[in-house]
Amino acid sequence: MICPRCDSDKIKVMVKSPVGDEWEVYVCEKCWFSWRSTETINVLPKFRLDDEKIRNMQMIPPIPPLGK
Ligand SMILES: [Zn+2]
Repeated sequence: MICPRCDSDKIKVMVKSPVGDEWEVYVCEKCWFSWRSTETINVLPKFRLDDEKIRNMQMIPPIPPLGK
C-alpha cells in the first residue's frame, strides 16, 4: 500500500473499527495524511505532496530575518 498523497510506503494502521473488521484507518508516517480503508482516495494533483513540498511545509512559519 502507498500513500495516496505522497506515494510513501510508510503506512501504518491508526485505528480499526470498534466492531468487526469493517474498516481500518491508515496514516502515512511521512505526510500524516490519513484515510479510511473503505474510501476511494483520489488526491487532486495540486494537493499531492513530494519530498520538496514536505520540506517546504516544515519552513512554516517562516523564521523572521535577524536584525535590520
Ligand atoms: Zn503521505
